[in-house]
Amino acid sequence: VQETDPVSRVTENFGKRMATLEMEEFKTSGDSTMYERFWQQMGDKTTAVIPGWQYVSYFLDVTNICWFLEPEFAKAVTRLHELVGNAITEGRHIVVGTGSTQLYQAALYALSPPDASEPMTMVSAAPFYSSYPLMTDFLKSGLYKWAGDAHKFTQNKPYIELVTSPNNPDGFTRKPVVNRKEGILVHDLAYYWPQYTLITSPADHDLMLFTVSKSSGHAGARIVGLSLKTKNGAKEVQTFFDNSYILMEKRWKQLRAAVEKSQLFSVPNLSTVRCNFSGRHFETQPAFAWLKCEGEIEDCGIFLRSHHILTRGGEHFRVSQKYVGISMLARDKMFDLFTKRVLEIQK
Ligand code: PMP
Repeated sequence: VQETDPVSRVTENFGKRMATLEMEEFKTSGDSTMYERFWQQMGDKTTAVIPGWQYVSYFLDVTNICWFLEPEFAKAVTRLHELVGNAITEGRHIVVGTGSTQLYQAALYALSPPDASEPMTMVSAAPFYSSYPLMTDFLKSGLYKWAGDAHKFTQNKPYIELVTSPNNPDGFTRKPVVNRKEGILVHDLAYYWPQYTLITSPADHDLMLFTVSKSSGHAGARIVGLSLKTKNGAKEVQTFFDNSYILMEKRWKQLRAAVEKSQLFSVPNLSTVRCNFSGRHFETQPAFAWLKCEGEIEDCGIFLRSHHILTRGGEHFRVSQKYVGISMLARDKMFDLFTKRVLEIQK
């Protein structure tokens, strides 16, 4: 294609804009590379092979509302939720997409009336996942638009509230805050898995978003309908979540010790109850550290950058710059370096 060709201009433009969006995502949420080691250790046991003849037809199951969903994959999803006990699956439709980012956009499209006089209003309680505004307004849809912090939403009109629980970036368990009859709820349960939080009851909401990016860590697989061909039973699932839980526990201990020693920062104290999946009592150990600079430091992000720690500042989550979000899911080497640098900061 000629470089001046409109097609190549579109592709180039799209590439650039996607790159911006993906980079935002990367900086905010971090990459789940922590999981790489576990899957490497599993070797052939978790290697998937896709024969060339498979997935030629558009249709993987014409009897299903989501006809591009591989029935074996649907079974694996149901079985996993049942084993972990984090979502009701009975009487539900499973819809797959390339990550929950695409599913989020599909949900907004499906939930916004096509003939309304103005776009549907999207809100979420601050601090919220910083890609939400980008994901909502990226396509410049006339059907829906981002309206920010749900706590500040006072207009009397239809809305969709995104409830992220546990929340990105602060790890808190959340409930809707607007609570009006005309409201529609979308629950983003990306972190409702037993390595991060206590599984207290199976989630039972109208629309629930889950993602392999944060459960098994396969963010780059961007799974659509494909079957993972896992023969994994309850024991293997238990092994994976136990392993991940222990790693997260170790990291949170390491970070809390560094934070305590520095006397410059704090991290939220989260709830401790019994997890129905593991039977353990533990304090929530989120995929992010929501770090607050105590004392006089006004901009925690700039302060940490001066100590060679890159974070995402509170302003991106629509709260004070005294807060920053830091991924807890990096590779070991990176995580150790991060806590080492926190320890080296002197008062
Ligand atoms: N929701 C939340 C709260 C997230 O933190 C993320 C990823 N960081 C996503 C959704 C997007 O996940 P996916 O990789 O499935 O698009």
